[in-house]
Amino acid sequence: MALEYSKEHGQLHFLVIPLGSPGHYIPTMDIAKLLAQHGVRVTIVTTPVSVVRFGSILDQAIKSGLPICFLELPLQYTDFGLPEGCETIDALPSFGMTKALMVAYNSLQQGVEQYIEKLNPRPNCIVSDTFLLWPRETAKKFQIPRIIFDGMSCFTQMCNHVLYLSKAHESVGESDLFVLPGLPDRIELKRSQLPFAFNPGLKDMYDFQQNIRASESEAYGVVINSFEELEKEYADRYQRVKGDRAWCIGPLSLCHKDESEKVQRGNKSSINKIECLEWLDSQANGSVIYACLGSISRVEPTQLIELALALESSKKPFIWVVRAGHMTENIEKWIDEEGFQERTKERALLIRGWAPQILLLSHPAIGGFLTHCGWNSILEGVSAGVPMVTWPQFQDQFYNEKLVVQVLRIGVSVGAQIGVNGALFGDEEKPGVVKHEQLRRAIEMVMGDGKEGEDRRKRAKELSMMANKAIEVGGSSHENMTRLIEDIRNQVN
Ligand code: UDP
Repeated sequence: MALEYSKEHGQLHFLVIPLGSPGHYIPTMDIAKLLAQHGVRVTIVTTPVSVVRFGSILDQAIKSGLPICFLELPLQYTDFGLPEGCETIDALPSFGMTKALMVAYNSLQQGVEQYIEKLNPRPNCIVSDTFLLWPRETAKKFQIPRIIFDGMSCFTQMCNHVLYLSKAHESVGESDLFVLPGLPDRIELKRSQLPFAFNPGLKDMYDFQQNIRASESEAYGVVINSFEELEKEYADRYQRVKGDRAWCIGPLSLCHKDESEKVQRGNKSSINKIECLEWLDSQANGSVIYACLGSISRVEPTQLIELALALESSKKPFIWVVRAGHMTENIEKWIDEEGFQERTKERALLIRGWAPQILLLSHPAIGGFLTHCGWNSILEGVSAGVPMVTWPQFQDQFYNEKLVVQVLRIGVSVGAQIGVNGALFGDEEKPGVVKHEQLRRAIEMVMGDGKEGEDRRKRAKELSMMANKAIEVGGSSHENMTRLIEDIRNQVN
C-alpha cells in the first residue's frame, strides 16, 4: 500500500522536486530544511550542477543531523539542445531556450519513478514545483499526496482567482486601467501588466498555464512562501478557495540564521563576504540603497543606464548588482567608457554576478531596496524591515508592487507601465522605458527624511517583527507547517 510510512520510527518521508530557476529552487531548498527541522525525512530530486549550487546551503544542516538527502539524476543536456551543464533559466544563453529547459526537466520523471518503485515504504508526500507537470502523473501512479509550490503570494493567488472567475481583463483595452473585482482592496491594473496566463496572444505560454491550472486543481494542497499576518484577508480568502489546504509557511529565507549560510544562498557569491560587510560597516545606518533586479530578468542595457544615472544622481551610497545576461558586456562597456565607476567610487559598491542578497538586506546600513518585485525579493525585503523602490518587469511582479505600495504601504513605485512576459520565453518584446528621473524620484522618496518616509520605515520594521515571529515556535507559519505534516500523517494512518 502506497500510503505507508516506516512505523518503526514513525518518520514521514517527503520527496521534494524543485524547478530549474533560482527564484523557485532557492525557496524549495528552504522548504526541505524546514520539513527536516520538523522531523520529516526529505529527499530532494536534483541534477549534477544544481546539487552543488543550491544544495550546498544545506551542508551544515545535514552535518548537524537533519534527515535530508539528494536524489541526483543526470540531465542529458545536448539531447535537449542545452549547453553542457546548463540546468537553470539564469544559466541559459537566451530566454528562447526556456522551453528546451522545461522539456529537459520532464526527463527526470523516469528516474524519479524508478526510485519510488524500489522504495518500501514509498514516500508519503511529493512537494513539487507547480511549473512541473509530470509529478501529477507520478503522484497518481503511486497514490502519493502531492503538494504544490509556486513561489507566489496569497495576494497573487487571489488576483489570479478573481480574474479567472470574472474575466474582467477581457473587455478592456491593452493599456486601460481596470479594477480587479471582489478583492478587499481596490486594485487597478492594465492588461499589459498581467501575468502571461491572461495573455492569449502568447499562445504556448497561455496553453502551458491552462495545463498548470488543471494540475493544481488535482493537487492535495499548496504551500505558500508568505505569512498570514502580512496579507491576512488574502490568506483567509485563499484558504477558503483551497478548502483549507493552503499553508503559509514563510518567510522561508528566515530559516537561515547563520552568516555562512546566508552568504551562499542560491549561488557562490561573487563578492567576498568580509569585503562586503566591511564596506557596509563603513556606511551610516539606513543610508544605503541596494539595487538588484533578481536572478533572471534581463533588463535592456538602455534601462540599466537609466538605473545607473538615477543611483548616481540620488547622491546616496549604493550597492548595484550589475547583471544583464547576454547583454552584460554592453553595460560593462558603458560603465567603463563613461567613467561611471570612477565618478561614484567613493559611495558605490558594484557587484558583478551573484550577490549575497539576504546577508546584505539584513545589514543595518541598508535603508532601501530597489527591486524588480520578484516575490522572494519582496519577502526578503519585508523580513529585513527595508522599504522598497518597486520596478516590476513581468509575471506576478505588478501584483507584488500593488501589495507593497498600496496595501502594505512600504514602497514607492517607479511607474513601470508595461510587462515583458514574452521576453521571458524568447519573444521579441520591448518594455516601456522608465526614465532615470522617475527612478531617482522614487529612490529619494524611499530614502527621504520626511514624515512619509519615516512612516514607511516604521511600517516596514513592524512587518519585519511580525515575519520573524511567524516562523518561531508558536508563530503562525511554524504552526502551519506542523498542521501540514499532521495532515499528511493522517493520510497515512
Ligand atoms: N538572489 C540572490 N542574489 C542575486 C540575485 C538574486 O541571492 O544576485 C536571490 C534572491 O535573494 C531571491 C532569488 O534569488 O531569493 C530571486 O527570486 P525572486 O523571486 O526575487 O526573483 P526572480 O529571480 O525569480 O525573478
